[in-house]
Amino acid sequence: MAAEEPARETATGAAQETLSNLLHEGRRFAPPAALAEAANVRADAYQAARADRLAFWAEQARRLHWDQEWTQVLDWSGAPFARWFVGGKLNVAYNCVDRHVEAGHGDQVAFHFEGEPGDRRSVTYAELQREVSKAANALTELGVRAGDRVAIYMPMIPETIVAMLACARIGAPHSVVFAAFSPSALRSRIDDARAKVLITADGYNRRGTVVPLKPNADEAVGADESGGVAASIEHVIVARRTGQEVPWTEGRDLWWDELMERQSDRHTPESFDSEHPLFILYTSGTTGKPKGILHTTGGYLTQVSYTHNAVFDLKPDTDVFWCTADVGWVTGHSYIVYGPLSNRATGVLYEGTPDTPHKGRFWENVDRYGVTLIYTAPTAIRTFMKWGDEIPARYDLSSLRLLGTVGEPINPEAWIWYRENIGRERCPIVDTWWQTETGAMMISPLPGVTATKPGSAMRPLPGISADVVDIDGTPVPNGSGGLLVLDQPWPSMLRGIWGDDERFVQTYWARFADQGYYFAGDGAKKDEDGDLWLLGRVDDIMLVSGHNISTTEVESALVSHPAVAEAAVVGAADETTGQRIVAFVILRGGTEEDPTLVETLQAHVAKEIGPIAKPRQIQVVPELPKTRSGKIMRRLLKDVAEDRALGDTTTLTDASVMDLISAKLPHAT
Ligand code: ATP
Ligand code: MG
Repeated sequence: MAAEEPARETATGAAQETLSNLLHEGRRFAPPAALAEAANVRADAYQAARADRLAFWAEQARRLHWDQEWTQVLDWSGAPFARWFVGGKLNVAYNCVDRHVEAGHGDQVAFHFEGEPGDRRSVTYAELQREVSKAANALTELGVRAGDRVAIYMPMIPETIVAMLACARIGAPHSVVFAAFSPSALRSRIDDARAKVLITADGYNRRGTVVPLKPNADEAVGADESGGVAASIEHVIVARRTGQEVPWTEGRDLWWDELMERQSDRHTPESFDSEHPLFILYTSGTTGKPKGILHTTGGYLTQVSYTHNAVFDLKPDTDVFWCTADVGWVTGHSYIVYGPLSNRATGVLYEGTPDTPHKGRFWENVDRYGVTLIYTAPTAIRTFMKWGDEIPARYDLSSLRLLGTVGEPINPEAWIWYRENIGRERCPIVDTWWQTETGAMMISPLPGVTATKPGSAMRPLPGISADVVDIDGTPVPNGSGGLLVLDQPWPSMLRGIWGDDERFVQTYWARFADQGYYFAGDGAKKDEDGDLWLLGRVDDIMLVSGHNISTTEVESALVSHPAVAEAAVVGAADETTGQRIVAFVILRGGTEEDPTLVETLQAHVAKEIGPIAKPRQIQVVPELPKTRSGKIMRRLLKDVAEDRALGDTTTLTDASVMDLISAKLPHAT
């Protein structure tokens, strides 16, 4: 691996020379007039934030209930360790639940739960308050105190949200671990955070089968025949979802329902410091070993609340908001739980997959709950494209009024497909760029203000400052590409990597230490208007015969051909050109693989971008390797293209995909 570093450095270093004749996308979509008229946030928000950024954020913080007002908006004297709303005190769970009940909204549905088998349950804010109170009392009974860590290894069920809020209520930072992760992934996260309690479930429903979860939890905490407990875990709480038989360790294990039953449904929330840790969450692991990202209380809640209100234009009395992410990812934390609940939204929580029992399940859900705002990922959108237009066409999607996307750059063609087939050309699209580290959205259109461009995340949100710079940290002019940096601190910024300050500084702040910029790790382009186009990870930018070419743009060119549903592109080492472009494509439903396809696609890319960007090899594959959050893992494809052993595959959804792909690629060089 080490031998590869210099090449990467070069690719990274020269990223500002990214081709200027890249993909041209001239389409523009103005905000719908009615939405613009009644929008929560108008153009003047940008001016207000520019005039006084800290005053702007102080005003947004007043969306929340503070038990004690802060004395200073930002303390940046210990940079890059930030403190926001210094001296302020609040309780996150109170802000997300109790205050809405106190304001007379106890009967409003906080979320509609839809189980994969079709079982349903709607939870009101009043019920949520009682459940969270009981869970807070239960954790207290088990000896969990403010500052103790709680690991949550749970599927998409109401108890998961209750568990997170209960932790927040008592000031015990949670570490949510995606339910499909392996016991060893769970174990390493438990060990890293030294979690005291693990909350899990017996199992869950996925693709029509019952998946056991408790045995994985047991393996992770090291239960042996003698009932011994390894790791730091003192208790394992098990929610009943499937009713299946589970292995049991007496004394350590407790059923959620039995534990809750004996608790009072009243609990007085305590105030916590604005900088009290709220949660630890590990990044997706797309580029390597996951990092335990630390988020705190006041700044985080301020920014998730503000962005959820501004970017989705949430009207709490009438909207139904559905974020399709898993709660195990930051998107689920910020836009299933904390953002929406702090804004008194009515949400949807769906347990299963989009194709169970049929490929129209998402659209059936939209129709059933009258979803008005939907937030999903490019990987899902490309999958729907692959399945065909006729599937969403069967459903009444007239309730939708806004569509969101996050997770990867969205190819212009996928954006247009989303607009036409899901939004029926009525709904604005918000392409939101952010990271686990940023905690909340950073770059996104404002739906009532921005005329959008398919494939562009457009501008930093009000109060956020970002730029595209060259390797020396100098901002590039409009019309060029480079490295994306955040040049001002923001309220929901990560406060560190759990237990590893040095890695925090090295990973994000060392590269532009002189300027004090946060380096996001992503490449981006500023177009002629100054709007931002994310080009994927800097590590993924290819260097071909001295030209920097973004994998994202070649992929978008491939996807713009009617035969292609999804594409992944990598730069493989090449003796003559430095790197050669290798593409892996999935064809659209109904497309036949004809012998001229490869040439046709090569010619198409040459026409869309330029001959230099033409993939040397194109391989049709049935699937692409993805992380469990649905992101393409290009580094594994690169391993295949360069004919070497695969790197870390622990966050891969389905490791057998790699065998299928390796088998298809002729080992050429
Ligand atoms: P790791 O950091 O462990 O490699 P990861 O970066 O995939 O994992 P996340 O924090 O879940 O973990 O993802 C953030 C990244 O996702 C961003 O840095 C960016 O590369 C990509 N991303 C998210 N939203 C967008 C978007 N709207 N447009 C382009 N890229 C996006
Ligand atoms: Mg990352």
